[in-house]
Amino acid sequence: MSGLSDIQNRIAKAEEAAGRAPGAVTLIAVSKVQPLDRIQAVLTEGYRIFGENRVQEAQGKWPAFMEQFTGVDLHLIGPLQTNKTRQAVDLFSTIHSVDRPKLARKLADLAQERGACPELFLQVNTGEEPQKAGVLPAEADGFVADCRAMELPVRGLMCIPPVDEEPALHFALLAKIAARNGLTGLSMGMSSDFETAISLGATHVRVGSAIFGERGL
Ligand SMILES: *Cc1c(COP(=O)(O)O)cnc(C)c1O
Repeated sequence: MSGLSDIQNRIAKAEEAAGRAPGAVTLIAVSKVQPLDRIQAVLTEGYRIFGENRVQEAQGKWPAFMEQFTGVDLHLIGPLQTNKTRQAVDLFSTIHSVDRPKLARKLADLAQERGACPELFLQVNTGEEPQKAGVLPAEADGFVADCRAMELPVRGLMCIPPVDEEPALHFALLAKIAARNGLTGLSMGMSSDFETAISLGATHVRVGSAIFGERGL
């Protein structure tokens, strides 16, 4: 058995504690790097919403699972190179890592060509970390406006807090930026902090190791 049902129970409790509606939070089971048998087990338990952080890795394993299991819903949560955008929009229902104008432009061109576009979350580098993707908090309003001007389906904002800081501060900042831009989607919270994220308004939590076990074991 995976940790799936335990995490689902904890999400339900956190929703209730925060006065959120049951089912208000979507759990994305982050399957990156996990052995195939662990992913297969979660699919067999009936779960269908998964997150991957690399396009190529996802292309290597998900087409076969999608033949075997119907209704799989894949979310891209990691950095997207512009030259992989076409493959990404073919495979993923949702992209959580739109982090720069050039990528937004490419997504807009593909949306025009295809008449469809995945749902998008814009990544905000709330910790202003040089090595981390995402627009700076001060640039976020402008980036939201630019994406809307390109008619992109912006569902919300996403962040990955710095490892050594209190995540609640970053979740609260992301929620504030989203609210002032009229965005309701908040992709925030991982294995170690998803309950905190839910208390601060997360609509999508991205949980990997707490469901599948530690990566690389
Ligand atoms: C790996 C990853 C997660 C899941 O991390 P866990 O700590 O295993 O829950 C969530 N979000 C992103 C962007 C990731 O890369």
